[in-house]
Amino acid sequence: MIQSQSVWAREKDFWLNDYFKDNSVVAGLSTKSFPLFTKKKNFREEVVDRGLFFEKVGLNPKQVIVLGQTHSNHVVEVKEDQGFYGDSDAVFTDLKDVALSIQTADCVPITFVDKDSGVIGLIHAGWKGLEAGIIARTFLAVDKRYGWNLRNVQIAVGPFIHSCCYEFKRETNHNFDSYIEDRNETSFLDLKQMVMDQLLSVGVFQENCFIAEECTSCNTDYFYSYRRDGEPTGRILSFVIKKD
Ligand SMILES: [Zn+2]
Repeated sequence: MIQSQSVWAREKDFWLNDYFKDNSVVAGLSTKSFPLFTKKKNFREEVVDRGLFFEKVGLNPKQVIVLGQTHSNHVVEVKEDQGFYGDSDAVFTDLKDVALSIQTADCVPITFVDKDSGVIGLIHAGWKGLEAGIIARTFLAVDKRYGWNLRNVQIAVGPFIHSCCYEFKRETNHNFDSYIEDRNETSFLDLKQMVMDQLLSVGVFQENCFIAEECTSCNTDYFYSYRRDGEPTGRILSFVIKKD
């Protein structure tokens, strides 16, 4: 059974994920009531913007990590002196007090924590990244670096657009048929099942996976949704940080 009960400690401007609370890790996301995040700024402005958010959460990380988020399958490990990683959609580190962060507005934010090695990570997964194997590439990269035991890896998937709302055109150039549902002559993509199937296929234990039940498009009160609102819209900032 995929765990989908709500584990969020809800504040006005952010939700914290209680799922990791035993691991000296803080993970969470911004809600719509925090002033707009957008992807139109440069790196410095991104860091300032995200720094204001971390202040709200009560965190003061020594470094904020920003990814270019190009719907690629590129994975990076944080280096001490680098904060911005251009053409990449997944990141991991075992460094403390470094805030990994990604922005989404319908795509799937995946956070992982390994109790043994102390590795934390974030994946930005839309259909393009999923098709390009971003989950498998990330898990391979961490395994190569740390040789981790998946038995102890915890996964939390934040709010994204669910199949209730995600209209998707059937095309012949990708293999999504088993994830597409047709209702009233419209096709909808089931990102939740795609993500779960990919996580299980890399060897993650199902009982270690928490997946948010919130759909970004349905939840007008809490979340921005690119598909619902169009551009310009805001973004959800997801983050994970190891406490010092
Ligand atoms: Zn929905």
